[in-house]
Amino acid sequence: MAVTEPPRTRMRVPLLDLKPQYQALRAEIQAAIEKVCASQAFILGPAVKELERRVAEYSRCGYGIGVSSGTDALLVALMALEIGPGDEVITSPYTFFATAGTIARVGARPLFCDIDPVTYNLAPGAVRSLIAQHCESLSGELRNRRTGGRIKALMPVHLYGQVADMTALMEVAREHGLRVIEDAAQAIGAEDAEGRRACSFGDVGCLSFFPTKNLGAFGDAGLCVTNDAALAERVEVLRVHGGKPKYYHALIGGNFRLDELQAAVLNVKLPHLDAWSAARQRNAALYDRGFAAAGLGEAVRTPRADPRARHIYNQYVVRVRDRDRLRQHLAEQGVGTEIYYPVPLHLQQCFAYLGHRAGDFPEAERAAGETLALPIYPELGESELQYVVDSVAGFYR
Ligand SMILES: *Cc1c(COP(=O)(O)O)cnc(C)c1O
Repeated sequence: MAVTEPPRTRMRVPLLDLKPQYQALRAEIQAAIEKVCASQAFILGPAVKELERRVAEYSRCGYGIGVSSGTDALLVALMALEIGPGDEVITSPYTFFATAGTIARVGARPLFCDIDPVTYNLAPGAVRSLIAQHCESLSGELRNRRTGGRIKALMPVHLYGQVADMTALMEVAREHGLRVIEDAAQAIGAEDAEGRRACSFGDVGCLSFFPTKNLGAFGDAGLCVTNDAALAERVEVLRVHGGKPKYYHALIGGNFRLDELQAAVLNVKLPHLDAWSAARQRNAALYDRGFAAAGLGEAVRTPRADPRARHIYNQYVVRVRDRDRLRQHLAEQGVGTEIYYPVPLHLQQCFAYLGHRAGDFPEAERAAGETLALPIYPELGESELQYVVDSVAGFYR
């Protein structure tokens, strides 16, 4: 008689389900929202102030400025550093659009460098060789020989919740006098192997509270953190159209305010963030073990993190063989997945003017074609994680 595997019970494992988190905090959140409603103080009130103080402290920075989104955190940081036309900013082509989108929006040029194939973060070696091969120092400024642009800043991204190689990147920045803006939208509380926290390395760190991030609002919200008092002051002024005092404008800013209702929700959630990130780490460890036990060899490569570092697993991203068909199979099995990101930024239509071609950043292109994010949210149980592993294994058998 043929040995048959026991039938697996069908499950539904979405990529993300925010409802259990809300249910657990519902009464507290409702009370916090009601408090703001009762006060009718919706703009830059006490909840925003409290969140700014607490998130700055959490990120081990001196100052926090609440803003309207992670995108606006990046935008206002660039504005505060006076980066604009004629300037260039070195960044990763393998990230959410906002990273390079905001650089272009201030009139500057995104200068892409390839990523590390293991961490998917900006590769310091690629930054060094770009500078060595294509840049020159002219009266203390770093210039792009091809475009003539001034290279002003470095914008590394801590992708998926893992801190980029900041020791090496900060060294490059110091050597060439570059400012550093950390895109920490996916990495609140993440640490490198020396225990240094995301946002505490560069001139300014940018956080997002988009609902899918580890600390998510009930809509859009973000925050800039910095240790530079003068920079904090500039961000604060730019957040309200550059008016200081009100109606007197030395600077042109925008409306980048963080909503009081969002801040009230985030203040309730913040004390739980460490437990949620720990639950994501537990889930990642269960996946790591499950995939190792499934013996899928080269077909599935699980994320690699330095054991001394603190990866907060905003996403658990595997590199797999036959990615698109696996994704289809998982959808049929009831498992939600996502591709972060299917088209690297240097190949986006809107950046055609930068003149890039397929092959310019091979690691970013490979990652875009081979990676898949699996469900990792804190409330997932062991049986659901095992079901995902079994469903992946089922595809390759
Ligand atoms: C989410 C995200 C942003 C933008 O944040 P929003 O709050 O959605 O504007 C920027 N960069 C990265 C890497 C992100 O993941």
